[in-house]
Order: sequence, then structure tokens, then C-alpha cells
Amino acid sequence: MDTFEGKMKELLPVKKEERWRVYDRAKGACTCPSCPSYSMCAQGNGEVLFCIMGMSFRCIREDKGCLCPQCPAYPELGLSKKDYCMKGSEKDQRWEKVFG
Ligand code: SF4
Ligand code: SF4
Repeated sequence: MDTFEGKMKELLPVKKEERWRVYDRAKGACTCPSCPSYSMCAQGNGEVLFCIMGMSFRCIREDKGCLCPQCPAYPELGLSKKDYCMKGSEKDQRWEKVFG
């Protein structure tokens, strides 16, 4: 099991309130707001942590690069993909790769 799978398994039995606390801590480390692809719309809606929460609902549609691999959360969560705001969460991208 790799780091990401381990982290996700750790969170599975945890109550949703504790999971939100973990996500809130991770949001503080998210470097998306410094990314050239990040938009005013995303900022206004407080959209971050796409690697976990999934793709931007409607705010990021222009690919100007991705800073995820340089984010402190990237190795910490054991991430391996990028462009999460445009392509979906780590979980979605891994799942799509397996079944797509
Ligand atoms: S890996 Fe990307 S989406 Fe995830 S917290 Fe870091 S900058 Fe944000
Ligand atoms: S997920 Fe990647 S591309 Fe999207 S805003 Fe965050 S750093 Fe930029």
C-alpha cells in the first residue's frame, strides 16, 4: 500500500468532523492560490485542496500550469498526479486510470 492509500484508509473510519479538521489543516498548506491556473472565481469561492476535494466546479478552465508537485502536501499525502482542479482528485484520476 502506498502513502496515499494509507492516508485515505486512515481517514475512512474517522468521523466526518475529524476528517474536516484534517482537510482544513491541509488547506492551509495548499499552494493553489499561487498557481497561474488559479482564478479570481476560485479565490472568491474559497476553492482549494482539489487533490482531495475534486475538480473545480466551474472556476478553473484554463490550463496555465500546475504547482502541485511543489506543494508541501504533495509528498505528505503521497500524491502522484496533478492538474487536480481540471482533471479531478487523486482518487478520481487513479480510479479512471484503472477503469478508463
Ligand atoms: S497538491 Fe495541489 S491541490 Fe493538493 S493541496 Fe497541494 S497545491 Fe493544493
Ligand atoms: S490543482 Fe494544480 S493546476 Fe490546479 S490550481 Fe492547484 S496547483 Fe494549479
